[in-house]
Amino acid sequence: MYLTNKAKLKIIPLGGLNEIGKNMTVFEYGNDIIVVDCGLAFPDDEMLGIDLVIPDISYLLKNKDKVKAIVLTHGHEDHIGALPYVLKQLNLPIYGTRLTLGLVENKLKEYGLLRDSKLITVKPKETVKIGQFKIEFIRTTHSIADSVALAIHTPVGVIFHSGDFKIDYTPIAGEVADFHRFAELGAQGVLVMLCDSTNIERPGYTMSERTVGETFDNLFRKAEQRIIVATFASNIHRVQQIIDSAHKFGRKVAISGRSMINVVNVAKELGYLDIPADILIDLDEANKLSFDKVVIITTGSQGEPMSALTRMASSEHKKVEIVPGDTVIISASAIPGNEKFISRVINQLFKKGAEVIYDTLADVHVSGHACQEEIKLLHTLIKPRFFIPVHGEYRHLKQHAHLAESLGMDPKNIFIADNGTVLEFTKSSGRITGTVTAGKVLVDGLGVGDVGNIVLRDRKHLSQDGLFVVVVTISKEKRSIIAGPDIISRGFVYVRESEDLIEEAKNLVRKTLSQCEKDDICEWTSIKTMIKDCLSSLLYEKTKRNPMILPIIMEI
Ligand SMILES: [Zn+2]
Ligand SMILES: [Zn+2]
Repeated sequence: MYLTNKAKLKIIPLGGLNEIGKNMTVFEYGNDIIVVDCGLAFPDDEMLGIDLVIPDISYLLKNKDKVKAIVLTHGHEDHIGALPYVLKQLNLPIYGTRLTLGLVENKLKEYGLLRDSKLITVKPKETVKIGQFKIEFIRTTHSIADSVALAIHTPVGVIFHSGDFKIDYTPIAGEVADFHRFAELGAQGVLVMLCDSTNIERPGYTMSERTVGETFDNLFRKAEQRIIVATFASNIHRVQQIIDSAHKFGRKVAISGRSMINVVNVAKELGYLDIPADILIDLDEANKLSFDKVVIITTGSQGEPMSALTRMASSEHKKVEIVPGDTVIISASAIPGNEKFISRVINQLFKKGAEVIYDTLADVHVSGHACQEEIKLLHTLIKPRFFIPVHGEYRHLKQHAHLAESLGMDPKNIFIADNGTVLEFTKSSGRITGTVTAGKVLVDGLGVGDVGNIVLRDRKHLSQDGLFVVVVTISKEKRSIIAGPDIISRGFVYVRESEDLIEEAKNLVRKTLSQCEKDDICEWTSIKTMIKDCLSSLLYEKTKRNPMILPIIMEI
């Protein structure tokens, strides 16, 4: 009892702040911790060779006994992608809506983790009790079906977490967001709101998903030959609209790309896709049909190098060859950083004679995130006492704070936090009280966290200036050179065309070694450092480059 009276609610973001990706937030009260979302991020250009990035969960591991559950808002990778890695270290029950857990199940199956996992399906409007928290799931609309916001009822007050959302009054399937409940919560009093900041820089409203369907109808009506549509696999409503348009114009639909096939299967099984009988065919059948009867739905809307659309564009796809007359619709917008990949794919498709339609040419995409006016509506309905902008880079969080102020919020009650910031709330107060370990864990192949800053620095060095290896064999007794020096270089200069430079480098190594012999220097590390230093100056002087130099000395 003492604890309940004294305890404060802690909110600790472990990911998703000052970045878009790897969302994860800790809610802690007394001896209970729940984790909201468990996402991954994609590596930026600096992270050479890294496959993906997950949040650092040291804080959770340190408080293992307190952590009770993971609660998911929706099934996007930036909210569920780190689950396989986190569950290996912390086997926790996972709460989510049906489609979200359907996608999670698929993922855990891939990693062989499904058998030991406990997945608990919840419905919008339901409330579950986890420790001292009561978590209420509230329907929202987003670019994936079955998204929810959360009202977390705690002993100090209600915390409202928007999840990712937009306000779509005419969603494709299911219902609109539960505005009644938002307003009710607001009227009863919300202590803290955490709200999606992704599109905070965009004025106005995000268009309804339905507008994309109208564009599809217009494009399908005009297309005389085959239609290929690339979109995000998880955007089931988009896939539904493509199928609907295909049906309307008497075309069959083939699905291409592994993640698209996976998601369509899960969604179909769970009843989230309404697919007319016999409309789905495979790619082999599609090749036998007259092309004006075919639509292919594919992955690759981001121009990802291994994706199906990219392979089609570069003639590397086993079953689909782009031909003049094809209409290719890229139903997505570029995630920052992917622009050049998409641009390359578009160029290749045009060169092959396809008609390419993308977001600057037609309304073939709408965002899944709320613009300013929608965000204002949510603030106005929820009327929180304290506010933490989330799901955004620093500039987004800052803009979101400005927006909250413009709606009359006291700037002292707005917290721009970082991953690892500890925020503490009582019934009437809120403040930042410290930090915990948080950050990026890099995943490369099977390695999780074994690639850190030092490895990345080496990769960057190698990628920019290449490698220069000197191998020399020395006699143990006489300390004279028995073999070598030989030089191997990669990514620095082409050895056969740089014989003079290589010869000069070899002479320099010989000279350095005989100097060492004279001066009676026999410490290997000192000899290696001397070789490195003299070569480094020579190579820089001759080429203005700084390759990584590796001296290898063998002793017999
Ligand atoms: Zn999302
Ligand atoms: Zn997200």
